[in-house]
Amino acid sequence: MASNYPFEHLRAKPNEIELFEKRLPHVAKEMSEFYRTMEIANRSIAQKNMFGNPLGIRQDLGFENALKLLLIACFNDGLLVEGDTAAKSIDVFRALTLKWFTFGNKLGGCLYFGYFAYGCHSHALALFNEHLKQIEFLAGGAKSRLQAPDIAELLAPTHSKAWFKTSNGLGDKLHPIAISDTDVTKTGLPRPGYQVHFRNSNQFDLRAPPFIEMDQVETPVIRDAKVIVSCPTCLQKCRGNLFKQIEITCPSCKTTWKQFTS
Ligand SMILES: [Zn+2]
Repeated sequence: MASNYPFEHLRAKPNEIELFEKRLPHVAKEMSEFYRTMEIANRSIAQKNMFGNPLGIRQDLGFENALKLLLIACFNDGLLVEGDTAAKSIDVFRALTLKWFTFGNKLGGCLYFGYFAYGCHSHALALFNEHLKQIEFLAGGAKSRLQAPDIAELLAPTHSKAWFKTSNGLGDKLHPIAISDTDVTKTGLPRPGYQVHFRNSNQFDLRAPPFIEMDQVETPVIRDAKVIVSCPTCLQKCRGNLFKQIEITCPSCKTTWKQFTS
């Protein structure tokens, strides 16, 4: 089981723990407790599975409280500001959880976060919405968003907005993320796209976004043994010979990427 998680090999650079503690002092203080409650919650889910019972949200009682304290810490450190949505908050928590794992913490915390944020997404949204309302009331005034470049690097995006569609799933053109069709639900209006839930494989990949907008997904156009795909950086249409996997260099901006065509 443990060797299957695609983000598992990720490790932080040696200076990143220190940087995290220096730039995000409140978050760093709450993060270990938040992560600990998720590890416990994950163990309780795993045990339920062992006895053949269906998955249930048998959360450790401390999880929700730790989530709230971490949310307040995110506002104190400027990772979140007044007006940020529940979806934005979940994405910040996703990035923090993944980063905390790369500091050498156990996988279980990430797996519970995946189960919570992807597998039970609407529940997670409701929970964040509820706490955001309370916290905005508590916090009162707006604080400005943290703009430090080293934080931008520390919590750098783990996925792009340029995805390709194949016959059995979705792939990120710029990051090594592949998601099976059985792990997403296609949604229509008002928000067309793909809800990423990982409920079939349970192979939560915390690098992936919980939702991919339809206009970020391209189906390769195939014509006369050529394939036409858009550059993930400048959107230039690029042509290449048709193979199952192709590597393209954009003639305009020189971005090079690999993708599947079917
Ligand atoms: Zn380009």
